[in-house]
Amino acid sequence: MTTALVLGAGFGGLGAARALAGAPTDVVLVDRHDYHTFQPLLYQVATAALDPETVGHPVRALVDDQGNLRFHQATVTGIDLGSRQVSFAETAALSYDHLVVALGAGVDYFGVRGAAEHAFPLYTLEDAVRLKDHMLGRFEASEDAGAAGPGALDVVVVGGGPTGVETAGALAEWYRHELERDYPHLPVGDAAITLVERGGRLLEMFPNEIGAYAQRELERRGVVVRLGTEVTAVTPSGATVGPGDQLSAQTLVWAAGLQASPLAQALGVELDHGRASVAEDLSLAAHPEVFVVGDIALVASGRGAGPLPQLGSVALQAGEHAGRSIARRAHGEPTEAFHYRDKGTMATIGRGAAVVELPGGHHLTGRLAWLAWGAVHLALLTGGDSRASTLVDWAWMFFTHDRPSRVTVGAAEEDEELGDLRGRGSTA
Ligand SMILES: Cc1cc2nc3c(=O)[nH]c(=O)nc-3n(C[C@H](O)[C@H](O)[C@H](O)COP(=O)(O)OP(=O)(O)OC[C@H]3O[C@@H](n4cnc5c(N)ncnc54)[C@H](O)[C@@H]3O)c2cc1C
Repeated sequence: MTTALVLGAGFGGLGAARALAGAPTDVVLVDRHDYHTFQPLLYQVATAALDPETVGHPVRALVDDQGNLRFHQATVTGIDLGSRQVSFAETAALSYDHLVVALGAGVDYFGVRGAAEHAFPLYTLEDAVRLKDHMLGRFEASEDAGAAGPGALDVVVVGGGPTGVETAGALAEWYRHELERDYPHLPVGDAAITLVERGGRLLEMFPNEIGAYAQRELERRGVVVRLGTEVTAVTPSGATVGPGDQLSAQTLVWAAGLQASPLAQALGVELDHGRASVAEDLSLAAHPEVFVVGDIALVASGRGAGPLPQLGSVALQAGEHAGRSIARRAHGEPTEAFHYRDKGTMATIGRGAAVVELPGGHHLTGRLAWLAWGAVHLALLTGGDSRASTLVDWAWMFFTHDRPSRVTVGAAEEDEELGDLRGRGSTA
């Protein structure tokens, strides 16, 4: 029996592993976490709308019905294509006959001074929980001090793509409804939520009118949108934008850039923004036994329109294709070229406002788009129990304007920070 090693239990890795169900090969699925992260809803964890468990689903529960699969929780530290071995931080190396690399991407701060130390990225479940705990910590510290210090309640969101737009919209609604009610003695209504975008418009990958719609809807919710504005430095108390303008905010969310996993460097191919170039069937040209899928891969769109975007739908379809290719090989059949089926792209701005771009250039905005967004995300969520609890939380929030998840169970590090802040607040 051959062994297929699948690195990463994100959309790409899970797609590959599931497509290998019933194939005459042992499948070992590896991830450093024991849960699969549904990244599209991370901003809802960060804004207390959903519990972390809804967005992080146990990997074992997702694959326990697949007889030829074993899950291995470990951190990949190296890939040796020559000896066909993968090494791990915690356990012994594993050998493979076929390898699927689906290790995703992380945040890119583009070298902006102070960003790595002080900005809050939104790429992992830990990021989302840390951001929520940090913001609630600022509110509690202000409440203890009897006043909000400069920028204590203000937030800057960097990046006007879907993540930045969705986060800014969700923050505005959280502030206006629950936080104003929870902290009646604080000037929550005066807090600034500023969305900063370097380019000239929001949602660059959508048509112009959709970007303009998103901007109008955000501004209607009280978000200050600053286009053509570049963040050049970040400190714990704010950001420098442009040549030297200061924005005061003790919370800065970084939603501006992605960098493929550094393990792409082990794949011996040219990298573009850290992404590994692959052949038509998603394998490496010099190593047909290795497939690379998802955010870590650079896949030509085949229409002269540049590479396919780093999206969950692309990763899932590419993973499934890689899994099917390995199964075909096991049956002595050749692999086929990968063709992405675009089923549309969407982003939500807030209650009753979303944008959907359908294949063929048609688009929807407003309430209908918002309902479509909700239905699609519920359908895509992994695990029936996640789906059910998300539906209950969303319905509860819709009817009561009450968020179920605004408690901090957080990190010791955050508690220390909170202690510091309280000290600062009381002497101010
Ligand atoms: C905030 C946010 C919102 C998004 N919204 C949307 C959306 O609305 N629609 C959409 O289509 N796409 C969206 N995306 C993009 C989408 O989530 C990604 O394109 C998709 O997750 C990529 O899948 P992947 O399998 O390549 O990587 P991932 O899903 O990131 O999975 C990679 C896996 O590899 C594991 N891993 C990484 N390094 C190691 C290591 N060294 N050892 C072991 N395991 C490791 C990680 O733990 C992770 O489980 C969003 C992304 C973000 C961050």
